Amino acid sequence: MTEPVDLFVIGGGSGGVRAARIAAGHGARVALAEEYRYGGTCVIRGCVPKKLLVLASRFCDEFARAADFGWTPVDARFDWTALRVAKDRELARLEGLYRDGLARAGVRAIASRASLEGPDTVRLSATGECVRARRVLIATGGLPLRPDIPGAELAITSNEVFDLPSLPARMVIEGGGFIAVEFACLLQRLGVQVTLVYRGDLVLRCFDDDLRRHLDAAMREAGIVIRTGETITAIGRHGGGFRVATDRGSIDTDLVMVAIGRVPNTQGLGLERAGVALDERGAIRVTPDSRTTAANVWAVGDVTDRVALTPVAIREGHAFADSEFGDTRWVCDHEDVPVAVFTTPEIGAVGLTEARARERFARIDVYRSRFRPMGNVLSARAERMLVKLVVDRDSDRVLGVHLCGPDAAEMIQLAAIPLKMGATKRQFDRTIAVHPTAAEELVTMREPVADDADAPGTGARCTLC
Ligand code: NDP
Repeated sequence: MTEPVDLFVIGGGSGGVRAARIAAGHGARVALAEEYRYGGTCVIRGCVPKKLLVLASRFCDEFARAADFGWTPVDARFDWTALRVAKDRELARLEGLYRDGLARAGVRAIASRASLEGPDTVRLSATGECVRARRVLIATGGLPLRPDIPGAELAITSNEVFDLPSLPARMVIEGGGFIAVEFACLLQRLGVQVTLVYRGDLVLRCFDDDLRRHLDAAMREAGIVIRTGETITAIGRHGGGFRVATDRGSIDTDLVMVAIGRVPNTQGLGLERAGVALDERGAIRVTPDSRTTAANVWAVGDVTDRVALTPVAIREGHAFADSEFGDTRWVCDHEDVPVAVFTTPEIGAVGLTEARARERFARIDVYRSRFRPMGNVLSARAERMLVKLVVDRDSDRVLGVHLCGPDAAEMIQLAAIPLKMGATKRQFDRTIAVHPTAAEELVTMREPVADDADAPGTGARCTLC
């Protein structure tokens, strides 16, 4: 390629692919380099395969509950290999869609690692070719963080968990964030005895405290051992498995997984040669419109460590492409991003936690309902659903919606719309309930809970706080 391309994208994940396709649609000449598989973390080793595993794991509860609804008990057996094969087939299909989308948009897709030689030159490792580019977009995502402890290399991360040859009988998972709790719940249901080791006192630090307590109780009820206030200090081989040393004892197990956060993937990209600066957390420093400190280099997605979620990366990539190659300038709005945690029970949340709302608003009202979802009423299952609204008493605006229970992820997507529109509690209440559903609680909670003198604390900052 002698002519410079209008845009060179490094990274074929959600953000990079969206930006490349939209820019090409605006008439730009676009090249994209991906060293591994298209789809990035989300498609290959994140959201998509995780959700498939979550769905598989929930049959466990359904089989158990079926008898309460008149079915003869099901003697079901789980086959990990069969699920893995089916999951891989689906990932291959999705990856094909990503490739086709790029090809249809006229993007030159290059199977190579790429790095910057300067702000307008990209070197391809596969061929040694240098490509000149009027603009460069870095969308290289993130990588799992490993602890700096003896034996850390013996642990797996979320990168490896999807392709285990077989499931272990026992597993230790370290962390209390998204990945740790999601995998703890799904693996426990697939027959693994999970021990969760978390340095804090309650999982999911950035979420509303009521949700955290609700999930903690449900996880324990499902049989997951949760050891809080504890950190793994070393991992060694022991018998056919591993012995995990912690600052409070030791645990013998068959497999160790660390899920202690992810770091921006910036190594070996030649960022220093191009004048692209990193922030104190090692993420590419960007302006709200995703410009880096180099004049013609932009960055989107997890490598910028703003809100590390796929739909956010997609929006950032789209906004960049429209702004630089189309005729509309806009930026991705990082406020009130709805989130789901695919634990069982599931979590959905948008807006301010009660603690954050108390910090920012003089007077808030909290509406909270705990009830047995209908799926549990005929059975002995005591598990309840939590629905909580946080409201600014002065303006009546709904500031936060927090859900834990079946279909919370689906519900929060819809609840996020009125919240984003600035809807008031009164407007929620004017909406007729859909009966009988769990979601109807969102519009039927009449009385705020009494003011809580022991309002929860706020915890430290994370990307979602
Ligand atoms: P998180 O940032 O969510 O959680 C990291 C966890 O590890 C926290 O509990 C943290 O503790 C703990 N931790 C951090 N450092 C150490 C350490 N040195 N030793 C022991 N524990 C430590 O990271 P994840 O890896 O779970 O997920 C990464 C990101 O991926 C998420 O933030 C999210 O953006 C995204 N994701 C989103 C999903 C979704 O949308 N459903 C699913 C999976 C991932 P503490 O709380 O004390 O800080």
